[in-house]
Amino acid sequence: NSNAPSYYSVIVLGGAGVGKSTLTRQFMTSEYIDTSDTGGESGVMTVSVLLNGEESTLEFIDPPDKNISIEELQLDAYVVVFSITDKASFDTATNITKYLRVELGTDRAILLVANKIDLVRKRKVSADDARLLATGYDCKYAETSAALNHHLDELLVGILSQIRLKLSIP
Ligand code: GDP
Ligand code: MG
Repeated sequence: NSNAPSYYSVIVLGGAGVGKSTLTRQFMTSEYIDTSDTGGESGVMTVSVLLNGEESTLEFIDPPDKNISIEELQLDAYVVVFSITDKASFDTATNITKYLRVELGTDRAILLVANKIDLVRKRKVSADDARLLATGYDCKYAETSAALNHHLDELLVGILSQIRLKLSIP
C-alpha cells in the first residue's frame, strides 16, 4: 500500500540483428513520461508507464547476444523478438520461447514480437505461424516496426498488462 510506482524488470531476447537494441532505444522516445537512459552498449533503460491510473517503472535489459543466465530467469517479463524477414531468427525465437516457458512455468509474462513489419515485401515468416507459436506457449503476440516506431506504445502497454495479469493485479 505505497504510492511508489511498481518496478518491473523486462529483458529483450532474440537473434542478432532482429532489432532488439532499436526497439529498446525507441521505448525511450515514447510519449510516456520520465524516461531515463543509463547508457551503454548492453544498457539498462527505464521508462515510466501510466496504465489504469497506476504508474509503473519498467526497466529494460538489452543484453549482449548470448545464452540466458540463471539470474535472467528471475525477471518480470520476457520479450522475444524475431524479424519477419529472417526465418532463422524465428527458429531462434521458437527455441527461446519453448525454453522460457518450461523454465518459468505458467505465471510469468512472455511476449513474442514480430519486428520489421515495414519490410512487408521481404516477409519470410507468416503472421499465422507466429501467432500459432505465441498461442501454444501462452505468449502475447505483437507486430512492430522499431525503425518506424510503429506499434511500440501498444507493445509497452502490452508488456505492463501481461506483467499485471500474471501477478493478478487488476
Ligand atoms: P539487435 O542485434 O537485435 O540489437 O538489432 P539492432 O537493433 O542493432 O538492429 C539491427 C539492424 O536492423 C539495424 O540496422 C536496424 O536499423 C535495423 N532495424 C531494426 N528494427 C527495424 C525495423 O523495424 N525495420 C527495419 N527496416 N529495420 C530495422
Ligand atoms: Mg543489439
